[in-house]
Amino acid sequence: RLDYRAISENVTTRATNALNRNAPVRDDLMQSISRTYKEHKTLLNDVNAKRNLRSVIGQEIQRCAKEKDVVGKQKALEEAKGIKEIISGMEARLVDLEEQLLVDGLTVPNDTHPDTPLGPEDAAVTLATHGAEPLPASPNRDHLNICRKLGLIDLDSAAVVTGSSWYYLLNEAALLEMALTNYALSVAIKHGFKPVTTPDVVRLGVAARCGFQPRDHTADPPASQFYHIANVNVDHSSSSANELVLSGTAEIPLAGLFANKISAPSTLPLKVVGIGKAFRSEAGARGADTRGLYRVHQFSKVELFAVTTQEASESMMEEIRTVQESILNGLGLTYRVLDMPTQELGASAYRKYDMEAWMPGRGKWGEVSSLSNCTDYQARRLHIRYRLPEKPSSDSVAAPLPFAHTLNGTAAAIPRLIIALLENGAVFDETGELKGVELPEVLRPFWVGGESKHIL
Ligand code: AMP
Repeated sequence: RLDYRAISENVTTRATNALNRNAPVRDDLMQSISRTYKEHKTLLNDVNAKRNLRSVIGQEIQRCAKEKDVVGKQKALEEAKGIKEIISGMEARLVDLEEQLLVDGLTVPNDTHPDTPLGPEDAAVTLATHGAEPLPASPNRDHLNICRKLGLIDLDSAAVVTGSSWYYLLNEAALLEMALTNYALSVAIKHGFKPVTTPDVVRLGVAARCGFQPRDHTADPPASQFYHIANVNVDHSSSSANELVLSGTAEIPLAGLFANKISAPSTLPLKVVGIGKAFRSEAGARGADTRGLYRVHQFSKVELFAVTTQEASESMMEEIRTVQESILNGLGLTYRVLDMPTQELGASAYRKYDMEAWMPGRGKWGEVSSLSNCTDYQARRLHIRYRLPEKPSSDSVAAPLPFAHTLNGTAAAIPRLIIALLENGAVFDETGELKGVELPEVLRPFWVGGESKHIL
């Protein structure tokens, strides 16, 4: 359940927050929520008063029947009929108002951490840099050239079979995908995350409740981040919330795994690591980053997800960061951790860290991992709650169950890790000819068909 009262009591703060986050919300949305909430509250009081009156009339009918007061009973019955009609009219209006609140409320972004920098992507603050001194930028290290020289990729066939920004990974690159997946999984499991394979197809409504809404509301129809599955709607009469889409990230089915569940305090935090395919339409994505494997439409991703209490979510964010750093450190990459600014938070994140690895062939840092603390944004929309520990001598009225906090972080987004490994690991002879690629030691146990330290 969304906290409409909090929104309506802080309209200005919420509107400023939405503005800072560049959220695609209507200017008057918060005012409209506030008005609708107040009307709903007043109407709810009125309808409850009428319901009380109805039960008083009910008692009057019984009394008249008992005392054989035919005239009194007839009068009370007419009154009861009139009040029933009034109540059902009010209840219909309540349902309309609740639907309006839900539609409006779903587009309100999460609150923002006080330390989050204000502004667009380039306002990000570097929290830490790890690894060796970055290699000098060099076009010789371009991952696409390396892939072509070593027979690791086929983009042309993928263009025929599917389209541009789709790919085949070949030979050692296919094995590298498996090895990276299993390596990331093994680190996550070591840190207490339970492995899960997820459905890669999800309902649009579940995605929306996780905070994935169309980005560009000015486009007609609004640009969708998703591939929509035509003609497979389970129920054609139902709303677009039931429409099926290819999931953009395992975060959606992992959040959905906990929907409508109430956790016992002793079971928290719940930590899972999902293995799935991510599908991105990349509608409106910047053209410059589409070379090779950098911005593709499908990729394998290992995803960390945690459900915890309100008090523990900030420390869980640091715990997940430790897991992510351990994965990147093991791969020997040079990377930096960024505190992402307000306009990069999307709808759901309260705070977000991105990790960018140095990619010398691209001559740029490239995002390889992301970590978001969504606080109660997803939990309110998916009804993920927990019980508080019992207080021994509490005889007060039971308080409503608190909403959990959810967090998600990338353990491994395969194509970008492959780029970073190839561009940093490329080895050249004295004439500058590519000899091969040196791979990190940690991948050895995960290599199908025997160990490998090099791609030659
Ligand atoms: P996101 O869920 O958008 O935060 O993405 C998680 C991670 O997936 C990012 O940190 C990138 O490493 C990677 N990623 C995102 N979009 C793409 C894409 N279109 N192609 C390849 N990798 C991507």
